[in-house]
Amino acid sequence: MKNYLKIAVQKSGRLSEDSLNLFKECGIKVEMGKGRLRTVSSNFPAEFLFLRDDDIPGYVEDGVADLGIVGENVLVESAKQVEVVKTLGFSKCRLSIAVPKETSFSLPEDLHGKRIATSYPRILSEYLQKNHIHAHIHEISGSVEIAPSIGLADAICDIVSSGSTLLSNGLKELDSIFRSEAVMVAHSGLAEEKKAILERLLFRISSVQTAKD
Ligand code: ATP
Ligand code: ZN
Repeated sequence: MKNYLKIAVQKSGRLSEDSLNLFKECGIKVEMGKGRLRTVSSNFPAEFLFLRDDDIPGYVEDGVADLGIVGENVLVESAKQVEVVKTLGFSKCRLSIAVPKETSFSLPEDLHGKRIATSYPRILSEYLQKNHIHAHIHEISGSVEIAPSIGLADAICDIVSSGSTLLSNGLKELDSIFRSEAVMVAHSGLAEEKKAILERLLFRISSVQTAKD
């Protein structure tokens, strides 16, 4: 099996189930053994790699994987050079700036001079620049919602899907700055043989998407 696509999907998380379902709906078998990090499909020229979502853009840029499924939030924040070949319509969420419920801030301008905790420094700084807001970005890698209550920051910028996590941490949404959904990305220098397999896959995905509309 020389010509096949190496496809990176999230090992476990909010992208995993829908990613695997997509391949299943396309008629592609992905047998996921317990704890296995890679598996070859028995009926389509593809090998699946199970990774952390944050690592997927880099692996696809480097060509370690030919294809990957990742959220636009992680993709844009990574600034990796890959081609978006399909938007997938699942794992929809938004990045929002939120502040403690009791604060009087209500406008983005109120963020001037404030400290904002986030795991998305690149997307946040673009937003701040575009809106001419001078604020301090405090990069942290997780549990961003607790930053204001422990005095680490005045505001946060994080993923919101329903708003209930914000509420339960005593926060309210100030502004939504980025909308995201899952996308399929490809390495930009794919060989012709791999491109041909990718076309077959994209055709199947389009058929599945059309059937759902
Ligand atoms: P990993 O262990 O792979 O690094 P993670 O904890 O960083 O996983 P998840 O929480 O599984 O990431 O989220 C993966 C992606 O799913 C996010 O980057 C985002 O695109 C999307 N996502 C996050 N939260 C939600 C949500 N509440 N609803 C829908 N999609 C979401
Ligand atoms: Zn992650």
